[in-house]
Amino acid sequence: MTLHVHPDIASLHPYIPGKPVEELQRELGLTQVVKLASNENPIGPSPKALAALGDGAATLHRYPDGGAFRLREALADRWKVTSDHIILGNGSDEILGLLARTFLTPGDEAVMADHTFVIYKMEVTAAHGRTIAVPLKQWRHDLAAMVRAITPRTRLLFVCNPNNPTGTMVSADEVARFMALVPEHVLVVFDEAYIEYVRSAEFPDSLAYVKEGRHVIVLRTFSKIYGLAGLRIGYGVTTPEITNYLNRIRPPFNANSLAQRAALAALNDDEHVSKSRVMNATGMEQMVTGLRALGLSPIPSEANFIYVDIGRDGRQVFNALLRQGVIIRHIEGQMIRVTVGQANENEAFLAALVRVLRTD
Ligand SMILES: *Cc1c(COP(=O)(O)O)cnc(C)c1O
Repeated sequence: MTLHVHPDIASLHPYIPGKPVEELQRELGLTQVVKLASNENPIGPSPKALAALGDGAATLHRYPDGGAFRLREALADRWKVTSDHIILGNGSDEILGLLARTFLTPGDEAVMADHTFVIYKMEVTAAHGRTIAVPLKQWRHDLAAMVRAITPRTRLLFVCNPNNPTGTMVSADEVARFMALVPEHVLVVFDEAYIEYVRSAEFPDSLAYVKEGRHVIVLRTFSKIYGLAGLRIGYGVTTPEITNYLNRIRPPFNANSLAQRAALAALNDDEHVSKSRVMNATGMEQMVTGLRALGLSPIPSEANFIYVDIGRDGRQVFNALLRQGVIIRHIEGQMIRVTVGQANENEAFLAALVRVLRTD
């Protein structure tokens, strides 16, 4: 029998994650591998989160609290909203899928940047929506052009801020002008996975739009600065009306019990967050200096990764670095993305890159 695959699904390609360290070690027989590919926190999880995990293991025979009462209360408290404004996901990735399935009927449109987080297009396509990709302007979201791309069929508009893979951000002023023009039939998704790393004072307060009752959802995650990517937990802050709709299709136990516990502990570990932020700022300086010394021009980043034109085929550089035990991300053409790691990891990357660029 022939399989009848939905053409929208057939058009997709499986997401290719950053190569796991163990896999590269196995393949090349390397002992030292540096992974700077997935924007993870190089210093690991919050020690408080680890301690909370230990306590949670004894109750693993029970289903999680499907309503995630304590974590949602804590997040609501932190962001000065009520807990009916909070929805949890198995990573914020899952919430992107819930948004697409809740708001798109076949042929509905979702506006996004042409170079942004690849999961948006994947989820929109899987929900049979149409992606309207608006070119970046000097590597940044062109919010004015994104507004012009809105039609009566537009349902979702994604603003990845700071943007993955470019590391660039849009400012409070730009977002204010943009929000004044976005019509009510469009739900704006502010994906702020890297907000804790931002140093600019111009970064927008997107939660204020949620509090005003605008059709906005702000996505945050425990996968990046909180160092819990392996547990899969993220959240959205949005209006109670929107959480209500999303909850209708949310799998009841999507946020697992260990993730809920660890996230709660990590949320209250300010020391781990500030230590991670300081380490990133230092590492960013080290990386930018090292890349410039090679004659490269990394795009100024507000996040924990760097997007840079490597001056030659990026795939070749990616593969050559792999053979040196350094995992980065090839994005397209000459563009690569590298996560800021610990000082010794950054050093290893820069040294490997010097060797790679020297030998053609
Ligand atoms: C890493 C990342 C996320 C977080 O994904 P999780 O599913 O929470 O791990 C979301 N958005 C962007 C842009 C990211 O880079």
